[in-house]
Amino acid sequence: MSQGQLYIVAAPSGAGKTSLVAALLRHLHQLEVSVSHTTRAPRPGEVDGVNYHFTTPAAFQQLIAEDVFFEWAEVFGNFYGTSQQSVEARLAAGVDVILEIDWQGAQQVRQKMPQALSIFILPPSLEALQQRLTQRGQDSAEVIAGRMAQAQSEMSHWAEFDYLVINDDFDQALADLSAIFQAQRLTRERQARVQQARLTNLLASAS
Ligand code: GDP
Ligand code: ADP
Ligand code: 5GP
Repeated sequence: MSQGQLYIVAAPSGAGKTSLVAALLRHLHQLEVSVSHTTRAPRPGEVDGVNYHFTTPAAFQQLIAEDVFFEWAEVFGNFYGTSQQSVEARLAAGVDVILEIDWQGAQQVRQKMPQALSIFILPPSLEALQQRLTQRGQDSAEVIAGRMAQAQSEMSHWAEFDYLVINDDFDQALADLSAIFQAQRLTRERQARVQQARLTNLLASAS
């Protein structure tokens, strides 16, 4: 069984990473998104165990003490973290896994797993970002102001990522993102594992 590829997708809040990743999962198979733990309150429509594992601050601290997290960070006053065991199990099963995490978490993952590929998503403009956060209609004006205030400091980390995708036209951004994933699946290293039997057959008859 070949090992899955780990991806990091980061963006300022409202740039569209959750929408793009959800659309990507509908296009590609053998690809999953990791469900993070968070101390943030659920938004309307968010389901525990699907969007996040919603956790109390005390339970989150307990998970840190038990060394459960592959990475964790404080973002916008809440704690967010990725469980090590669930990610490792899916990678070992040959599934590609996406971590939708912030730049602090991305730094931790690169340290632990340098082969992870990272993608940063930018909005076309600050005006568009503000409009998307408002139109999403899920956060209070205060929360949106806080996220806008941090957007530029988050975006300043763009150069730490392997790929940069601009989410202006959604379908174009989805095509760009999809191209990254498709190309990775066609690398020589990956094909050597996936196409091992075919390569053996093709080359055996050549002698
Ligand atoms: P959204 O980005 O506007 O959808 O807002 P969220 O509340 O879903 O996420 C808040 C921030 O937490 C974002 O910067 C995420 O990338 C980050 N985040 C989410 N899950 C994780 C995680 O498991 N680990 C880390 N380090 N950050 C996370
Ligand atoms: P994030 O997960 O990065 O916070 P979301 O995926 O929740 O962002 O997107 C924020 C809002 O912007 C959502 O209402 C989404 O429908 C909208 N959106 C995403 N991409 C685009 C786009 N290319 N053009 C216009 N609106 C978009
Ligand atoms: P939201 O609260 O809007 O769902 O997410 C806000 C930010 O938290 C986003 O930038 C998101 O990527 C980040 N985030 C979500 N889950 C995790 C996580 O598990 N780890 C880290 N480091 N960041 C996360």
